[in-house]
Amino acid sequence: KLHNQIQELKGNIRVFCRVRPPLEKELGMEGGLVEMKMEDQDSEGKEIELVGTEEKTAMGGVKAAKSWPFSFDKVFNAASANQEVFEEISQLVQSALDGYNVCIFAYGQTGSGKTYTMSSDDGMIPRAVHQIYSTAEALRNKGWTYTMEGQFLEIYNETINDLLGKAEEFDKKKHEIRHDKGTTIVTDLTSVPLDTPGRVATLLKRASNNRSVAATHANERSSRSHSVFMLHLRGTNSVTGEKSQGTLNLIDLAGSERLNHSGSFTGDRLKETQAINKSLSCLGDVIYALGSGKEGGHVPYRNSKLTYLLQNSLGGNSKTLMFVNISPLQQHLNETLCSLRFATKVN
Ligand code: ADP
Ligand code: MG
Repeated sequence: KLHNQIQELKGNIRVFCRVRPPLEKELGMEGGLVEMKMEDQDSEGKEIELVGTEEKTAMGGVKAAKSWPFSFDKVFNAASANQEVFEEISQLVQSALDGYNVCIFAYGQTGSGKTYTMSSDDGMIPRAVHQIYSTAEALRNKGWTYTMEGQFLEIYNETINDLLGKAEEFDKKKHEIRHDKGTTIVTDLTSVPLDTPGRVATLLKRASNNRSVAATHANERSSRSHSVFMLHLRGTNSVTGEKSQGTLNLIDLAGSERLNHSGSFTGDRLKETQAINKSLSCLGDVIYALGSGKEGGHVPYRNSKLTYLLQNSLGGNSKTLMFVNISPLQQHLNETLCSLRFATKVN
């Protein structure tokens, strides 16, 4: 199963939609839930159709029931557990051991389930590390030995912070991105050897502590920045002399909600908002440029820190998956539609 060549019909970019369940406190809330019809109500499917009322702005004042159909490579309903979700990405994760660079993104508004999907104790990051660890163990008897190193950074206001470093150094210590012969280096970034699978939990904890220390009063930092977990895998085969080098990037993106509708942001909040809007739209542009498949076409990696960082893991011989996480609430319908449209554009 290793050395699998995942054959894609549409190139190397896939989009999975995931609907989170309503939370306890949201049950019985005003507006209720959006009706979501899926290809197969009991499991995951590819089609999703939303039925709800589109909130018009104060000017329009119209509330009409409408329906919006979308289709993705996969749709996970609210009953899907992280384990089921992981099963669908496990091959992609494994391909990093074969020397591929892989990017897995979570896109969506704040509260839609990105962190639950990616970095919770049960999410894709720990599951991916555990799986890679056990596959690497199994490959030992074929002569392969791997070294694994984890790095974890955030991009906040177009500045890189080392989530495994010291929170006091956030926004002060400079980290630069350097590309050299197909590899990417971020200067002065902590690397943690993942020699036992248990280490990933410690690493996630350290990152999350650092983020809460660095959080400023008004804003929840984690929803205003992108976090990028990078797992670097280097393998050597003592029997055949083969070598492989791959990186698995798992990215919990900043909340995609458009913050301009309240219209009154100034200062730091405005700066944050502009940075997020810019980098998310750059990401969309890059993925779109890659997906449109024009050989040799210009891919605007340099327009944001995030795409510049991931340059070697987006396009070329790499594989990309995007989760579009959505909320089931009627009150979030407009944002949900924006997220689904974004995801449709890159798909
Ligand atoms: P985001 O990172 O997009 O802001 P979170 O991952 O923090 O969103 O999710 C918001 C809330 O919803 C959290 O309380 C989280 O535990 C819960 N949640 C998200 N997805 C699921 C899910 N699939 N199943 C159960 N609870 C979920
Ligand atoms: Mg989050």
